Amino acid sequence: MNRQNLEVADQVQVTEAGGPEAAASPVDAGSIPVGATCGKPAQPTALPDLDLPGLDLSGRTAVVTGGSRGIGRAIALALANHGANVAVIYAGNGPAAHQVVELAQAMGVSAQAYRCDVADYDVSQEVCDRIVKDFGSIDILVNNAGIIRDNLMLRMSAADFDEVIAVNLKGAFNVTHHLMRSLLRSKHGRIINISSVSGMMGNPGQANYAAAKAGLIGMTKTVAREVAGRAVTCNAIAPGLITTDMTAALSDQARSSLDALVPLKRAGQPAEIAAAALFLASDMAAYITGEVLRVDGGMYI
Ligand code: NDP
Repeated sequence: MNRQNLEVADQVQVTEAGGPEAAASPVDAGSIPVGATCGKPAQPTALPDLDLPGLDLSGRTAVVTGGSRGIGRAIALALANHGANVAVIYAGNGPAAHQVVELAQAMGVSAQAYRCDVADYDVSQEVCDRIVKDFGSIDILVNNAGIIRDNLMLRMSAADFDEVIAVNLKGAFNVTHHLMRSLLRSKHGRIINISSVSGMMGNPGQANYAAAKAGLIGMTKTVAREVAGRAVTCNAIAPGLITTDMTAALSDQARSSLDALVPLKRAGQPAEIAAAALFLASDMAAYITGEVLRVDGGMYI
């Protein structure tokens, strides 16, 4: 998200506070302003070490694209921490990917890093074939690799539109397509696509990104129907504003403006997305498919 998003976010806030919704509010609020909340915003708390038998992934293998940093890193480590072997796909940041591998190996699972531009169909095929050869079988795929190239539609270049679609949407197609045979053979097949609230509600400055993330939701629901007969599930997670390198460029002012759009009044942490991914990857979610799970602090209620 860039400065332009912030400016629009500011405007949206002002409009909502004094807009027609105020009069239409079902609550006879008297002097309570629209948007008022009780108490101070909650601070993130450390996630509990979820130790439920249904979350045990021992003996399964997960592929996490974009597993070197941010949300993907947290997901790879959460899956490893619950017994899954992990193949970490990254674009170019080898040291970060290898650090995730070392941390996962220290948890007692097999882990390897693979450099791969998921937007490249042929390279993805080569890498996916190698992963299947290295690990034998794949049970869990997390399509998490993503980029942003924000700009207003008026100024967005065709190249920026294409690149975002290529990585965020076509990349998920490429990897899912190349690993599908292996996933269909698994008794616990799970596909988890990391979408975004942008793909559900739109976000000024993100026509390319929102289109890719909305497309990913359509792909999730379609694949869910296609693979259900083999007891493989396919779900999406739609994070809101999460603190990672992707959002690090936001100024403090931008961050607090966006936080103000979130009922829980704070940005989310990668571990909070990882908790949702862990659940969807586990046996506890065997009867959930084609779902889009928002993890956004209520941004898109
Ligand atoms: P980061 O920028 O922190 O990390 C991006 C990851 O994707 C890195 O591991 C990067 O690899 C990898 N990657 C980027 N391009 C490619 C590519 N072409 N091929 C393979 N890997 C690639 O992002 P986040 O952790 O914030 O985001 C992760 C996912 O969550 C994305 O899909 C994003 O759209 C989504 N999301 C994020 C939100 C947020 O607020 N942060 C909100 C909603 C959704 P490398 O380290 O090698 O560069």
